[in-house]
Amino acid sequence: MKKTTQEKPGLEKSDILKMCICGGCPTYMDCGTQGKATETTFCMSDAGKSGCITEENGCLCGACHVKIQMKLKNIYFCTKWSEDVQNA
Ligand code: SF4
Ligand code: SF4
Repeated sequence: MKKTTQEKPGLEKSDILKMCICGGCPTYMDCGTQGKATETTFCMSDAGKSGCITEENGCLCGACHVKIQMKLKNIYFCTKWSEDVQNA
């Protein structure tokens, strides 16, 4: 599943990609190891949740400066979909 990162006011797409700490999270799995696309920045994804992460083992989003600066309300974006979807 192809993922995209939307540009949001105040943070550029490139900033969000650099700031995302999903890669260090105990829940994170690199879908690239399963022949799928490598994914991060799930909070901004407009293509849905992760294509391979199903088990929740803790979420680091609360410590991420993207969540703090953008005042995101949710966590577990990789399994529960993006901020916009969870807020809908
Ligand atoms: S809030 Fe979570 S999903 Fe969004 S950029 Fe930060 S670590 Fe990644
Ligand atoms: S969205 Fe949260 S739970 Fe999922 S990989 Fe990123 S930090 Fe971990």
